[in-house]
Amino acid sequence: MMLISITDLLHDIRTVEQRYHRLPHAVTLIAASKQQSAAAIRAAATAGIRDIGENYVQEALAKQQQLADVPLVWHFIGAIQSNKTKAIATHFDWVHTIDRIAIARRLNEQRSPSCGKLNVLLQINSSGEVSKSGVSWQALFELAQQVSELPQLVLRGLMVIPTPVSDFAQQRAHFAHVRQALLALHERFPTMDQLSMGMSADWQVAIAEGATFIRLGTAIFGSRDHR
Ligand SMILES: *Cc1c(COP(=O)(O)O)cnc(C)c1O
Repeated sequence: MMLISITDLLHDIRTVEQRYHRLPHAVTLIAASKQQSAAAIRAAATAGIRDIGENYVQEALAKQQQLADVPLVWHFIGAIQSNKTKAIATHFDWVHTIDRIAIARRLNEQRSPSCGKLNVLLQINSSGEVSKSGVSWQALFELAQQVSELPQLVLRGLMVIPTPVSDFAQQRAHFAHVRQALLALHERFPTMDQLSMGMSADWQVAIAEGATFIRLGTAIFGSRDHR
């Protein structure tokens, strides 16, 4: 069941882009479709969504088979286990969650040249909580340097899942910090031009601070809780 019409949501995104002086279509909506059926994704595609984000490899592959006739761009947005890198390298167009070089190297080796290069983002652990995935601020530059040397990957930018805060200004400052990091990295690594930040609760603020990908689940498909 779609919570709101995707047409309305896409329209809202264009409005927010305009409000914060972003270029039209600067922001790509990714439907975060964990726990959603292939049929729900098909309906979203019919309504104008082209980019799909999945967290779990097995679940994603099953849906990809059922949706082979639909032209979609697949983003891997979940935590990466090293025994899943082959499937990720083979079946996805983008990977948002690189946080260590060992994983990047495996993806590089396992990406078939016939698939073209794999677009990757580095996930930042912006709060520094040890329980969270993502590279620390201190290790970010070195990881970018190492990933930029891998020939089958293209280092495209940064991804963050911030700790939610209710205060708009605080949330905005948080996203601004990530945007500034991207700007600094872009000087050295010109292919880094994407910011994957913003979920259902905070996507407007993320757009204000330069998001180029927003990843929405609940706002598109409704709550995952009572399924
Ligand atoms: C589930 C998920 C989302 C979407 O979250 P919502 O709050 O439902 O919009 C976005 N990004 C990642 C990495 C997720 O796992």
